Amino acid sequence: MVAKKRIGYYSNKRIGDKIYHTSTWRKLRRSYYGKKHGLCEQCGKPGDIVDHIEEITEENVNDPFVTFNEENLQLLCLSCHNTKTFKKHFATRDDVMFDEFGQLIKK
Ligand SMILES: [Zn+2]
Repeated sequence: MVAKKRIGYYSNKRIGDKIYHTSTWRKLRRSYYGKKHGLCEQCGKPGDIVDHIEEITEENVNDPFVTFNEENLQLLCLSCHNTKTFKKHFATRDDVMFDEFGQLIKK
């Protein structure tokens, strides 16, 4: 009996994985991390993630000016990275907003 193909598996992978597994990225990441002294550029705490300011998409994943450009990188701690990701994916929705305490509420 032949196992069913796992359709959709690859499309579920993050597009950025294409570059995150390359040695070019690993070198760039390490050198960028060193330049920032390993500190989060937002809050100054120990940084964890070298993040692309302009998000990697299908359209730009093969463009080294986006993927391997230090100008498009920022070192973030986990908490700042989560805040950024959270805002990007939720605060742009039309039906929710942040209140004065930074809590996400329905409009
Ligand atoms: Zn931070």
